[in-house]
Amino acid sequence: MLNKKSSIYKGRFAPSPTGPVHFGTLVAAVGSYLQAKTNNGEWLIRIEDVDITRKVEGADVDILHTLEAFGFEWHGQIIYQSSQNEYYQQALEQLISQNLVFPCLCTRKQLAIINSSKMNRSMYPGTCRHRQLPQKSQHALRLLAKNKTIYFDDAVMGKQSENIKKQCGDIIIKRRDGLFAYQLAVVVDDARQGICEIVRGADLLDSTARQIYLQKVLGYSTPTYCHLPLAVDADGKKISKSDGATKVSIKNREKQLCSILEFLGQNPPADLSDSTINDIWSWAAQHWDIHQVPSKEKIQTVTDQ
Ligand code: GLU
Repeated sequence: MLNKKSSIYKGRFAPSPTGPVHFGTLVAAVGSYLQAKTNNGEWLIRIEDVDITRKVEGADVDILHTLEAFGFEWHGQIIYQSSQNEYYQQALEQLISQNLVFPCLCTRKQLAIINSSKMNRSMYPGTCRHRQLPQKSQHALRLLAKNKTIYFDDAVMGKQSENIKKQCGDIIIKRRDGLFAYQLAVVVDDARQGICEIVRGADLLDSTARQIYLQKVLGYSTPTYCHLPLAVDADGKKISKSDGATKVSIKNREKQLCSILEFLGQNPPADLSDSTINDIWSWAAQHWDIHQVPSKEKIQTVTDQ
């Protein structure tokens, strides 16, 4: 239905507007940008504000200004997830008509009690699977997990596989508060925008099999994936926008861009940071090789510049 796959490479950068750009955000932006550039492709930006409760006022504009100041150039119009609800609704209706959706009335507290003795505590135990739609009370909607193993070969992290029923469980596709879940939104958006490769942080490696499962049941094509190492602090914690991580400063952007190329295993020459930002991008586009990116899920990084 929504298969817009064209012959031109289309990549994307999809920040959530939860704070300003920090080192980790820029890693995903640089990696996805160079991968699109070196494939003579288009690089699209999508603001992932489907979870409006986490949105920070003005963060979208701030992110775009920072990207501009670093010299990124994007194609076409920027899409905001908050304006895409009709497409998420269409996908949901398709899944309902395929008998793949059930209402879930479990509260977090109930799930915590049921799961407290289980190995995988975040996996849904299937309590409401017998329930039918429509339901009168407030509820979330879950996607029925089939006994299917999803395999994919990540260009950075290598071969991956996950059994949907045993390892992912029935994921939420529409939340109890009425918002569509990120997992559904991202799959619909990537298909609608014809994204053929997804380059993003390794914190989403775990979400990929469930997203591929959703693509398959919705009849979309599956893009290729490159998960980049996550920049973590000394305690191994993700350096995150929403936790108020240090905002990248535009002042020494040349040095920061070179640090990111270094982080991504591209070995920029030591004096490259003395060049102009345009010259650094030219060097990067000539030398970019996704296979040089370290296949480590986390890399400890000192971000104070
Ligand atoms: N919106 C997510 C983030 O800012 C990225 C999602 C994705 O690239 O699929 O971390």
